[in-house]
Amino acid sequence: MIEDKVRIDNIKEDFLQENNIKLSILRLDLLHPEISGNKWFKLKYNIEEAMRYGQNTLLSFGGAFSNHLHAMAFACNQKKLNSIGIIRGEIPSVLSNTLQDCISLGMRLEFVTRDDYKQKDKSFYIKKLADKFGDFYLIPEGGNNRLGIKGCSKIPSFISEKYDTICLPIGSSATMAGVLVGSQNHQKIIGFSALKGTEYLQDDLKNSVLNFEFYNTNYSIKHEYHFGGFAKHKPELIQFMKQFKAKHNIELDFIYTAKMMFGIYDLIKNGVIKKDSCIMAIHTGGLQGNRSLGNILN
Ligand SMILES: *Cc1c(COP(=O)(O)O)cnc(C)c1O
Repeated sequence: MIEDKVRIDNIKEDFLQENNIKLSILRLDLLHPEISGNKWFKLKYNIEEAMRYGQNTLLSFGGAFSNHLHAMAFACNQKKLNSIGIIRGEIPSVLSNTLQDCISLGMRLEFVTRDDYKQKDKSFYIKKLADKFGDFYLIPEGGNNRLGIKGCSKIPSFISEKYDTICLPIGSSATMAGVLVGSQNHQKIIGFSALKGTEYLQDDLKNSVLNFEFYNTNYSIKHEYHFGGFAKHKPELIQFMKQFKAKHNIELDFIYTAKMMFGIYDLIKNGVIKKDSCIMAIHTGGLQGNRSLGNILN
């Protein structure tokens, strides 16, 4: 089973010990080299559902560095399903490593303007896509639908009750919604937004969990650790990633997990995360995206 690969590592730092804080990392990045991290959980029920309906083509949306499309291309390739990726923005002169992989895995790519991309959840636009590509099973951007959230609700089952704080990065917030559904009220969930200007996340999360019988209401979203916006970075963040890797032998991705981990360190140092806390940080994977950094990590 792919989920047997998950492991928990404990982080040792002087400032943690001084505050009697236990910090562990749930290594979802180790699940699988291609379908890593949270993307596996978001895809698994969606793929099952598509196959149950005999639908052999999956279509989804993403940017040029999308971990979601990368994972979906691989999963479809394995299951012998067709995959179509609708890509935000004009076709670039040089394709990203991510998109090159998608093509090698048999994904059909369609580049659309940013204005068209904004219509991606509208029924008239989806009908236009169906006219062009025929029937397909649609997975929204980032795998953010009910089955994606249901898949992510299994993630807390790897985390024992002694952890009173669970941290994770946020993109679409599907993973956090799943973690709220699968965790317990004595566990405080802290999400770190990887994008700028994401005040809408609060409402999105509320709507996502509404249809589940139980969800944890003990959570907060941090908006101060986006480092300039989605897929943006600063020397301070790169430095942090390098030090973290050197000290703990754990690679972080610059888009999500490095920003979360930087945020966790900062919240502990500022006393926002209290002494004696027992924290689980979820490593959601995404390491394939680091290839776009070139050699600045070396
Ligand atoms: C996609 C992704 C996220 C964001 O997950 P959402 O469910 O969209 O919030 C976080 N971390 C990594 C590594 C990802 O690839």
